[in-house]
Amino acid sequence: MKLDAPTLVTVTVFVTLVMGALYLLSWSQTRRTRALGFLGTAQITGAAAVTLFGLRGVAPDWLSIGVANAAMLAAFGLIWGGACSFEARRVSGPAIAAGPLVWLAACLVPSFAASLGARVILASAIAGLYCALAARTLWHHRGERLPSRAPAAILLASEALLIWARIPATLVLPVPPVGTPTQTFWVAVLCFVALLYSVAVSVLFMALAKERLEAEQRRVAETDPLTGIANRRALAGQARRILAEGPAALLLFDLDHFKRVNDTFGHAVGDAVLVGFCAAAGQVLPAGTVFGRLGGEEFACLLPGAGPAEAVAAAETVRHAVAAMRPDLVPGLAVTVSIGIARGSAEFETLLGLADRALYQAKAQGRDRVVFAGPGLRQVA
Ligand code: GH3
Ligand code: MG
Ligand code: MG
Repeated sequence: MKLDAPTLVTVTVFVTLVMGALYLLSWSQTRRTRALGFLGTAQITGAAAVTLFGLRGVAPDWLSIGVANAAMLAAFGLIWGGACSFEARRVSGPAIAAGPLVWLAACLVPSFAASLGARVILASAIAGLYCALAARTLWHHRGERLPSRAPAAILLASEALLIWARIPATLVLPVPPVGTPTQTFWVAVLCFVALLYSVAVSVLFMALAKERLEAEQRRVAETDPLTGIANRRALAGQARRILAEGPAALLLFDLDHFKRVNDTFGHAVGDAVLVGFCAAAGQVLPAGTVFGRLGGEEFACLLPGAGPAEAVAAAETVRHAVAAMRPDLVPGLAVTVSIGIARGSAEFETLLGLADRALYQAKAQGRDRVVFAGPGLRQVA
């Protein structure tokens, strides 16, 4: 394969420009992910840098070496800025500008400007540092699980290592003079590698932005907006997964005379009671419990693998916690809950139907109690 430097430079410039434009377009449409703005600007700055590199020998050295490298370092700094912005960290403008400024200041020293080796070492040190910082930023926030996070961090880290590898290579190997076939070959190789990295980093950042948006949409679709707990859809999904693995106990909660709370104290107080109920129940329910709102003032939780005694004990704990609740808005308001329990490895809807019958009994027997849907429905408190 013959790597032709001018062709590669032209391809790199156009590909990078198009990707930068797409990034900026995507950013201007949503304005939500500022990182896309940083990365789009990085691409366009990178394209300008490669264009200037390509003018080596045609344009004066201060432009094709000095300004070109400063633009290239600014592009790497902006990629780091994009990573910081993506992770909602403060983006430091001075830190992004520092790399190009240090480079430009060094270029004012004649002995530095005249030494190809010194120039390669400084530019590689700074560019590699920005890449490593971008990789570290993504890796640091791995608590937010996104499929493309590890590949993006690894890619940026490997780019940093590759760039830094130029430093010992420059110190050990003789730098080929400009214009020789060896030098042209290496320029082409570097250009090709830079193009591959640029495309891969762009695609992965775009994927990261999309994955975060999807995760956010999934979270919203599965969360009850008032109480912040799982909604019916999420609860049913998790329940089906749990029941597929074995028997579980289903506790069905219904607040007593809740309509009265609304009618007497207003809807806002009713809402506060619902939130308070979730907090109280959430605090006392055992770990590993799946708890969600079925709708209105009805809630359910699933205790994987729980036996009848364990299920009744958990229900009683919640019942007592609710009875002890003192809503801040209305100090004198007493809230109670009735609870129906069903246990088995049947379909979620079947268990729900059984628990509902038990709940109906609890209501009929005077409320504020727990009924277990055994054979012949057994009241336990
Ligand atoms: P019971 O003891 O038999 O369960 O009586 P209840 O009054 O609790 O039952 P009912 O089903 O008659 O009333 C439920 C009430 O819950 C009616 C409805 O206005 C109220 N409700 C449903 N969703 C919400 C909500 O999101 N916020 C508020 N504040 N009220 C709600
Ligand atoms: Mg109800
Ligand atoms: Mg009710």
